Amino acid sequence: MDSTVSILVLAHVEPDGALARPALETFTAGADLAKQLGAPFVVGLVGTDTASAASIAAGCGAARVLMVNGAAFAQARYATDAAAAEAIARASGAEIILAAGTSRWMRVLAGVAERLGGCIDTHITRVVAESGTVSIARWYYRQRIEGVTSRTARPWIMAIEPGTHEAFAGAAGDVTAEPVAVSLPELRSEVTGVRSPASGEQTIRPDAALLLVAGAGWTKKQADGETHVPEAESLILGCLRASQASLGGSKSLVDLSGEGQAVLPFMTHLNQIGQTGSSPRHRKGLATCCHGEEPHVVGWRFITERRAVNLNANCGWAQGKTDVLYVADAFEVMRKVNEKLGKASEDRPREAGRS
Ligand SMILES: Cc1cc2nc3c(=O)[nH]c(=O)nc-3n(C[C@H](O)[C@H](O)[C@H](O)COP(=O)(O)OP(=O)(O)OC[C@H]3O[C@@H](n4cnc5c(N)ncnc54)[C@H](O)[C@@H]3O)c2cc1C
Repeated sequence: MDSTVSILVLAHVEPDGALARPALETFTAGADLAKQLGAPFVVGLVGTDTASAASIAAGCGAARVLMVNGAAFAQARYATDAAAAEAIARASGAEIILAAGTSRWMRVLAGVAERLGGCIDTHITRVVAESGTVSIARWYYRQRIEGVTSRTARPWIMAIEPGTHEAFAGAAGDVTAEPVAVSLPELRSEVTGVRSPASGEQTIRPDAALLLVAGAGWTKKQADGETHVPEAESLILGCLRASQASLGGSKSLVDLSGEGQAVLPFMTHLNQIGQTGSSPRHRKGLATCCHGEEPHVVGWRFITERRAVNLNANCGWAQGKTDVLYVADAFEVMRKVNEKLGKASEDRPREAGRS
């Protein structure tokens, strides 16, 4: 036990004052680490309205809550976010600083570490303390190797990978948050709006239980010698709407869409799973019309239960890369799946009415 270690959990609040899931996951990581070290932890909040986030931090067991409030901190901006994080870190005197690896924090935390004379590690999936020694785990080489690191340099900033911890969901508590003064440099940038990638439909849902992956086979000539892209589109979108799954794609498929061909227009490079794509975390995954080559499957590292539908019994998935391979026509399978999903959603209100 090392009760001398001081821990800070940094979080930015959303424009409505809420804490997003990655922040709540970092609360869990901070509370667990504090418990293991027998040390208290402090929460530092940045945003316009931090009152409700402060109560949640208190409910999670924070000994103190520090806050940087004000309109200037509503927007993600390097100058204001870095100054706020630095001021909170100095006010807390913390040696270990945890923050969610959100795009907002990832832009500024390395700079904050430099200002504090400390160090930083990112994409952290686990933080543990054994006999008072704190170590972190993260994956390297596109999720193929897991490394465990311990450092003596302090302060040590840890950016926690979203999706790796349970989000804190306990009751709120009482706390008097302490304001921290920040001296801001001249502000030269302003966020004037948010532009999302062109995509007609919300298809990436990091919190979904299921990842539905579409491969290039959906756009290929089928047994009748024709392509059936409009039907492929309606089957994939039908499944997404009914199941609220997240949509992934193989590189071959997203490249086709990116080249402006009339194929699955809702597929962007953001959907790409794999070595040069992403490695999302979902409980289940279903690959359809996707061959299951290693550079693609490496992105399935964090999918717990895997199934694939492919016409080819010798496809990559059959080489031990999936729990279940259905050697079948994905068009037929997905028609049936969507029928069942539609029926299930029709049944749901009736069942609710009965109980
Ligand atoms: C350095 C490098 C990095 C790469 N990074 C990535 C990456 O990040 N992500 C990625 O995905 N790939 C990546 N690749 C490419 C990867 O090796 C494959 O080329 C790609 O994943 C193939 O995509 P696919 O399976 O959709 O297409 P294909 O290989 O064309 O496979 C289509 C499949 O659809 C099946 N099919 C066709 N019709 C049906 C039907 N009706 N029902 C069921 N099945 C059907 C076929 O049997 C076939 O197996 C990378 C390659 C390299 C060299």
